[in-house]
Amino acid sequence: MAVMKPGVIALFDVDGTLTAPRKDVTPQMLGFMRELRKVVTVGIVGGSNLSKITEQLGKTVMGDYDYVFSENGLVAHKDGKLIGTQSLKSHLGDDKIKEFINFTLHYIADLDIPIKRGTFIEFRSGMINVSPIGRNCSQEERDEFERYDKVHNVRPKMISILREKFAHFNLTFSIGGQISFDVFPQGWDKTYCLRYLEEFQEIHFFGDKTYEGGNDHEIYESERTVGHTVTSPEDTVEQCKALFFSR
Ligand SMILES: [Mg+2]
Repeated sequence: MAVMKPGVIALFDVDGTLTAPRKDVTPQMLGFMRELRKVVTVGIVGGSNLSKITEQLGKTVMGDYDYVFSENGLVAHKDGKLIGTQSLKSHLGDDKIKEFINFTLHYIADLDIPIKRGTFIEFRSGMINVSPIGRNCSQEERDEFERYDKVHNVRPKMISILREKFAHFNLTFSIGGQISFDVFPQGWDKTYCLRYLEEFQEIHFFGDKTYEGGNDHEIYESERTVGHTVTSPEDTVEQCKALFFSR
């Protein structure tokens, strides 16, 4: 699509930026994005998979944006066409994955914590999620584990051992939520999608979790982007109006 400002792309986080947290997009936001697209190229980058993003942004998502990056760009679409995919399985290979999972399960087996449940490892397409208590615990058990972990540092200790043991795998460990941590190759945060945007001189990124440890932090800080922190979808609209419609 021909735009008024070539070489410029507005790139948006999804949850908390285009939609309220865990909510669906509003018709007003969809209308605004269509107007914005007349001025600049528009893309989205979400951590969730494509079906979850489609749920939040609607079935027209492929037609509404020039670029759709799901799983931080491990799955990349341009003009509705798939232009790239990457997965943990093809990146690390089964031998390394098995070595990591075996070691981690042994570690958890030897770990003395008050309670354990089930599903200690969840293998996803772009990451491995590790939970010392097990993901299928109750909400009460989650809360309890979180409190216990704050005192005993179960997850930080485990991560420091895994980080050392698997240094040659070049992995990133990220504690999020109450009971688990994510493991993925270095660089597989939202900056991953930037490899598809080399033709743009100006990349404006908008996200709500741009603080250190937040899932927008790396792309917000990247030298390739101009980062914008937003507090809500309404704030996203206001900032875009000031930036792209002012002249
Ligand atoms: Mg967000």
